[in-house]
Formats: sequence, structure tokens, C-alpha cells
Amino acid sequence: MTETSAVAEAEQLVAEAAGNEGASSEGPQFTLELNQDQKDIREWVHGFAENVVRPAAEEWDEREETPWPVIEEAAKIGLYSFEAVGQFWADETGLTLPIANEELFWGDAGIGMAIMGTTLAVAAIFGQGTPEQMGEWIPQCYGTPDDVKLGAFCASEPDAGSDVSGIRTSAKYDEAKDEWVINGQKAWATNGGIANIHVIIASVDRELGSRGHAAFVIPPTTKGCEQGAKVKKHGLRASHTADVHLDDCRVPGSCLLGGKEKLDERLARVREGKKAKSQAAMQTFEASRPTVGAQALGIARAAYEYALDYAKEREQFGRKIVENQSIAFDLANMKLEIDAARLLVWRAAWMGRQGHKFENAEGSMSKLKAGEVAVWVTERAIQILGGNGYTREFPVERMHRDSKIYTIFEGTSEIQQLVISRAISGFHIK
Ligand SMILES: Cc1cc2nc3c(=O)[nH]c(=O)nc-3n(C[C@H](O)[C@H](O)[C@H](O)COP(=O)(O)OP(=O)(O)OC[C@H]3O[C@@H](n4cnc5c(N)ncnc54)[C@H](O)[C@@H]3O)c2cc1C
Repeated sequence: MTETSAVAEAEQLVAEAAGNEGASSEGPQFTLELNQDQKDIREWVHGFAENVVRPAAEEWDEREETPWPVIEEAAKIGLYSFEAVGQFWADETGLTLPIANEELFWGDAGIGMAIMGTTLAVAAIFGQGTPEQMGEWIPQCYGTPDDVKLGAFCASEPDAGSDVSGIRTSAKYDEAKDEWVINGQKAWATNGGIANIHVIIASVDRELGSRGHAAFVIPPTTKGCEQGAKVKKHGLRASHTADVHLDDCRVPGSCLLGGKEKLDERLARVREGKKAKSQAAMQTFEASRPTVGAQALGIARAAYEYALDYAKEREQFGRKIVENQSIAFDLANMKLEIDAARLLVWRAAWMGRQGHKFENAEGSMSKLKAGEVAVWVTERAIQILGGNGYTREFPVERMHRDSKIYTIFEGTSEIQQLVISRAISGFHIK
């Protein structure tokens, strides 16, 4: 994509989003009847997941490396691109984004995250940047099919995970040079250190806690932005996770997402005791929760389908194991839980796209339910496969390892419950 067309596309999407805000009565009605575009995209992503992702899953899980050739394949067919994410996002029902994510992660979650990890950085630039910033930085998150690049979103720190107000990474403005000087350490960043574009959440005023945060783009090869330790993980091993060190990292003033004027206005409001409209990290997470829930659903569905097929083949005591109620009931409950979680994910995705406020933390509900369902379903799948389920010869143990992160990142299950309980009660539950 050329820079100009990226700007035009970003501007169009922003205009559409703005047009949708609060315009619920004019938005599309919620329906479970997928339209032809949604069905076509589902089929397209499923085909890639089945033919390219699934066959490569075991290898890249064992290698614990970023599957560059698979990302390149995704870029060649246009799946790894801003155009694709923009097209998924532009669907005014909100359902295409979760549908595409579910299909891709059905193929494999580690590779799925290697492909979709960039989206978190893109979502931050898209959600908080000016049209010029979107046009400049979003294409650089993806690169080109011949030279693919990645994006990383870095909010978490060693001492600031669930509690983002504890972020210590600081950004100080050097007025003479119109530059920001960033110092700190980021932890567990997906694509951290290997990304072309890093979006860093830093504190510009520690006294204001999370209301004093701002998001900065670190352009490629900026001095002072280095990868720290790469994390060895339980699951999602085809996705790179690492610390990122920021050591007197200087970026131009134009790298502050949204611009300085907007930041100064926001900080002034907060200092006057007025409510800030948004917090840099939370804004990104809120928008992405149903999508993350959809990824968990993809893993759960893959494990359920595998276990169902297995149970219909495997014989013990002279009959198929599915003929035992305990196995069949487990499978029935697995299907039930997956479908229930999908309804929550689709509801939240639809509400988010219509600009409806999540009055009862519906975004958190969707992510909480889907994450817990993925862990439970994949564990049951191992049980149904018995000894085979526990070995690396069969994919369900990998799916189980992959699923666990969905109760941890983008807000742990406990934090989602906190958000929901505060929303429904109006009390500041601790
Ligand atoms: C594979 C992977 C990829 C990641 N990718 C990214 C990324 O790209 N960018 C990024 O910024 N971060 C990323 N993270 C970080 C992730 O978001 C954090 O790990 C997560 O937010 C939890 O923070 P923590 O690990 O510090 O746990 P903690 O906050 O220390 O929580 C530990 C336990 O305490 C519980 N707890 C904490 N506070 C409360 C409370 N008030 N009430 C009840 N229980 C509570 C938690 O639920 C949890 O069970 C990633 C992490 C992993 C493992």
C-alpha cells in the first residue's frame, strides 16, 4: 500500500467510526445470519488456517521461533496487511473481526499470534493517532509481502502488569529539540525487539497514575530501544515474547500519538480534577477484548472438533468411546460452552462497533468467558484422547498449553471479574 492510500483508508475508517458513535439507532440490527462477505472472509481465512497454518503448527511450536515464512505467506495472500484488518474492522456489524480471528486461531494459536500480534500496535496507532500518524506508521508495522515487518505494543512492565498505573517508563519532553526522551523497561512484549514499530506506553506525569500515560511510536532502528531477554513460554511458542529496554531513547515530537496539544489539554483537565476521556493503555485493551476472546474460541473449537472425531473412532470395551455417556456429555458441554462464549464475543463485538457503551463490561465478559472455556475445553480434549492426548504426537496438548494465556493476558480472569463487578454494582470493588 502506498503511504497516500494508507492515509486515505485510515481517514475513511476514522470517519466511519466517528459516524457510528452513539448512532446506535441507525446502525445495523444484530443478527446471527451472516452476510455473503462475512461467509467469504470466513472461508478464505479458514482455507489459509487449514492448508498453511495447521500443517506448520507443530514445527514452529517446537522451534519456539517466529514463523517468518508463514507470515510471508499470509502477506502474499493479503491476510497479513492493513487492508485486511481494515476490511475486517470496517464491517459495520463488527462480526468480521472475531470471525477471522476465530478461524485463524483454529489453525494454530502460536502462529495466529505471530500473524495477529502486530494488530495490537496497529490498534493503538489507529485508536489514538492522527490521520497523518496512521498513514506514516501503520504501513511500517506490516512492511510488504517481500519484506514483512512486525509491530509491538508495549504496556506491561516487570512491576506493572494488571496494575498499569504502576508503569515506571517515563517520557520527558525536550522542548529545545522537540523530542521525547523515553527511559524504562517493558516486559512480555509480543514481537518486542524484533518489531519494526514499537508502541510504548509511558508516563509523562507519574503523579497522575494511569491518567498521566501517553502512547509513543518508536520508529525503526531508533537508538536506545533494544530487545531484552526473550521469554521461554508454556504455550503460544511460535509467537515471540521479550522484554524491551528503553535507554535515553529519543524520538521526534511527532511520535507522540494524538499530538502534544491533545495531550496537554487532557493533562490540564485531569489536573483540574475533571475526568480524562481516555487512558492510553486501557483504550487499546477495551477495543481488543472481544477479538482476543475470538482467538480463544478458535483454539477451543479446534480441540473440540479433534476430540469429537477421535471419540467416534477410538474403541474400548468393544464400542466407540463416544457411546459412553460421560464422553458424549463432555463433548455436548464443550460444544455448548463454545457456542455460549461465541454469543458473548459477537455481542461485545457488535456493541463495540456500534459505539454502544459497555454498561455491564460486556467486552470483559466476552474475553473472560472465552478464555476460561478455552482452557476447560482443551483440558477435556486431552482427557478424551487419554494417553495420546498427553503426548506431543497429538495436537490437543499444544492447544491446551496455548489456551492458558487467554486467562492471563489482556487482563487476567480476575481483573475481568473486577471490571464486571464494578460495572454491575457501581461499587469500587477491590
Ligand atoms: C505470552 C504473553 C504475551 C504478552 N503480550 C503482551 C504485549 O504484547 N504487550 C503488553 O503490554 N503485555 C503483554 N503481556 C503481559 C500481560 O498482559 C500481563 O502478563 C498480564 O496483564 C498480567 O500481568 P502480570 O503478569 O504482571 O500479573 P499480576 O498483575 O502480577 O497478577 C498476578 C495474579 O494476581 C491477580 N491479581 C492482580 N491484581 C488483582 C486484583 N486487584 N484482584 C484480584 N486478583 C488480582 C491476577 O489476576 C493474577 O492471577 C503478555 C504476557 C504474556 C505471558
